[in-house]
Amino acid sequence: MASVPTASQALQSQATADYVVRVEDLRVEFRTSIGVTYALNGVSLEIPRGKTLGVVGESGCGKSVTGLAILQLVPPPGVVTSGTIGFRSRESRTPVNLLEYERMGPEMRHIRGKSISMIFQEPMTSLNPVYTVGNQISEAVLLHQTGEHKEAKERAIDILRKVGMPNPERIYSNYPHELSGGMRQRAMIAMALSCTPDLLIADEPTTALDVTTEANILDLMRELQQEIGMSIMFVTHNLGVVAQMCDEVAVMYLGRVVEQASVEEIFYDPKHPYTISLLKSIPRLGTNRKEHLEVIRGSVPDPYSRVTGCPFHPRCPSFMPGICDTTMPNVVYMPDSPQHFVRCHLYNDLANHQAVPSGVSNSIGGNGQ
Ligand code: SF4
Repeated sequence: MASVPTASQALQSQATADYVVRVEDLRVEFRTSIGVTYALNGVSLEIPRGKTLGVVGESGCGKSVTGLAILQLVPPPGVVTSGTIGFRSRESRTPVNLLEYERMGPEMRHIRGKSISMIFQEPMTSLNPVYTVGNQISEAVLLHQTGEHKEAKERAIDILRKVGMPNPERIYSNYPHELSGGMRQRAMIAMALSCTPDLLIADEPTTALDVTTEANILDLMRELQQEIGMSIMFVTHNLGVVAQMCDEVAVMYLGRVVEQASVEEIFYDPKHPYTISLLKSIPRLGTNRKEHLEVIRGSVPDPYSRVTGCPFHPRCPSFMPGICDTTMPNVVYMPDSPQHFVRCHLYNDLANHQAVPSGVSNSIGGNGQ
């Protein structure tokens, strides 16, 4: 095992890290008549500027809620109960805490669409069926970029061309229902990118598409990212897409990030038993066709319940009785890779020796309840 970093090394890694969004200890609850669902239990993650962060995990682990919370769009009865969401725009690198803004106030309305855009699995979630595609894109441009209708139309046609629409002038006048699924997805991406955002939150954007269209859309997102230098938060359960698209990966389990690292480290040197189990459950090139894929035993606990200790302990192959079922593990940074952190008692001996980089607070450990 590599040596523990010195405090100055840890500080240097903080100083050079340029992020667009830094989420710290974010908690979201859904309060219903039958109880409280703890959707996020202290999520901390960082989205590097100009890079793609993949957010992975099983259904119900809080991936989509994290994306919605960044835009203050968690639907009722969901409420953000604590945490901070630091955002640094291209123009002003001074961080602002988005949670200090009114949910529907002028600052958040300006940030949505202009600085942070979101695309969903189902394009009709974003596209209004009673307006033409061009109308909807021009509207966003008029709102955030220029008051000139002629210029807004030209920009809309230009972005439709950029996303690979075959006849952008005609598509401009089409209604969403007149387009195929793949073209609607392109139209939604065009709308999201029309104001060259700092961050695009993409929530399973290609899950409903066939593989050829998916490959085209992923290529397109990468090209546009390079062109306008935006960051992407890519929410997905598809680890193949993560390998193709992402620079960094945050692995979520039951409303917490349990491991974050570069895509190479996640695939070739995963630390958390949940990450290891997820990777063993996907087919890989070169494996014997007769070999069975591993499954993660059990299922994600009922979101109304609160698991004591590490939330993964009822399913973990490395479970340590008396430790894992009593105490929530703290965040531990890997000594040989200061941006790689994991929340697991297996690495406790490393925690006693290291300085903790900013971005993820160790104080969110405790009993975690
Ligand atoms: Fe498994 Fe314990 Fe680590 Fe949780 S803390 S992942 S139960 S070894």
